[in-house]
Amino acid sequence: MGFIDQWLKADVPGLVGSEWRHTGTTFDVDNPATGEIIAQVADMGADDARDAVAAAYEAGSAWRKTPAKQRHALLHRWFTLIMEHADDLARLMTLEQGKPLVESRGEVAYGASFIEFFAEEAKRMAGETLPTHAADKRLLVLREPVGVVAAITPWNFPLAMITRKCAPALAAGCTVVIKPAEATPLTALAAAYLALEAGLPAGTINVVTAKTPAAVGDVLTSDARVRKVSFTGSTPVGKHLMAQCASTVKKTAMELGGNAPFIVFDDADIDAAVSGALASKYRNAGQTCVCTNRFLVQDGIYDRFVAKLAERVEALQVGNGLEDGTTIGPLINQAAIDKVQRHVDDAVSQGARLICGGKPHAAGERFFAPTVLADVTPDMRVATEETFGPLAPVFRFTKDEDAIAMANDTPFGLAAYFYASDYRRIWHTMEALEYGMVGVNEGIISTELAPFGGVKESGLGREGSHHGLEEFTELKYVCVGGL
Ligand code: ADP
Repeated sequence: MGFIDQWLKADVPGLVGSEWRHTGTTFDVDNPATGEIIAQVADMGADDARDAVAAAYEAGSAWRKTPAKQRHALLHRWFTLIMEHADDLARLMTLEQGKPLVESRGEVAYGASFIEFFAEEAKRMAGETLPTHAADKRLLVLREPVGVVAAITPWNFPLAMITRKCAPALAAGCTVVIKPAEATPLTALAAAYLALEAGLPAGTINVVTAKTPAAVGDVLTSDARVRKVSFTGSTPVGKHLMAQCASTVKKTAMELGGNAPFIVFDDADIDAAVSGALASKYRNAGQTCVCTNRFLVQDGIYDRFVAKLAERVEALQVGNGLEDGTTIGPLINQAAIDKVQRHVDDAVSQGARLICGGKPHAAGERFFAPTVLADVTPDMRVATEETFGPLAPVFRFTKDEDAIAMANDTPFGLAAYFYASDYRRIWHTMEALEYGMVGVNEGIISTELAPFGGVKESGLGREGSHHGLEEFTELKYVCVGGL
């Protein structure tokens, strides 16, 4: 049986400690491109979640004492195994999530890059000695792992959202319980399988799969042994989980929704802006939290930008992600299709101009035609709600300060992008945007080397870079007296 086949069957187990656990009931995982059921996965509940927490807690006492150099070696081996299985993992990802194979391959490399990076960082998790306030005392700061981490992850990046949390957690000496999204549990299970193959001790990584997440979520947010909940997903669920974590004062990391603006000033390199727009808006069919949600384009360049964007959008290849040449796959479910259609209909009914797309695509039930809308105004739904689909609404502005005010007029603050060439304008705009991440003349900004995260209601905490490791550590101040 090939590596991929063991995840495409009727009774796929979850992982609790060293046990691949089957449950009496399973739930279906389907291929969004075809609707075909590709696997049935253990539908785990509160008891399984408690067992997974217990396994992580138990494994934690040895793992936190494992020398950093050894943690490095094990994580590095995990990275190598993921890269060795990159083709199979990419195929599995496309089957359960729908994104084009070329994007799945990109995500495998991106997901693995966090493991490689944090394997290195494990060796650099240093404490401090501080100047003292008394001759007979010495002040030390130890940097320690926080303990058991619950990682609750979404379906849009089935691997990378897991490795971006688990790699730094494991590097820091924490153990993890993963609750993957119900739409994409297979990639998560395959990654955990490879972690055990790499030699990570049983219990350091656990996967609790469930059709409806609330019962598992209740355990992960209330069990006192869990010390940190790291969540990526929607803002309402994030707020709910934060509230639940309050009763045991857990640390939380929240990567929540966005409403990313993409500003194109008159002096922008228009071809670069259109290429950036395409990458930022349409990858993963618009289903990423840093995807542009609003294009704000200055008067002098507006018509040319819309025309060039539409030309490139009409050339996108919509289809099954497994087929060569596909650049836009399906959306994850029917609700996602309905939301894009609602946004289009609302905008058009209020006077927006439909330039291309605007309706479901003939490739299948969950495909939506890549869409461009012009003459969009701030009272339309697309201005305030995250579409999470292949729809580019283009707003118009005249003065720089109006664009910045529009860009900031949202409770969200994850990613923002702008294209310009005047250096003063670049500097002022960069500083004025109330966002955690800004792309300047760049539409793709994610890398394991930089801190990813948002401000305002887009979240708390940062993932990636050395900041991403610190999120999984606690400081212990030690005063040595009587010297
Ligand atoms: P999306 O809209 O991207 O599906 P969600 O916020 O609904 O975003 O889901 C992100 C992750 O959060 C998924 O793994 C989902 O199962 C999980 N989730 C949703 N509701 C809860 C909950 N009440 N408790 C724990 N996890 C939850």
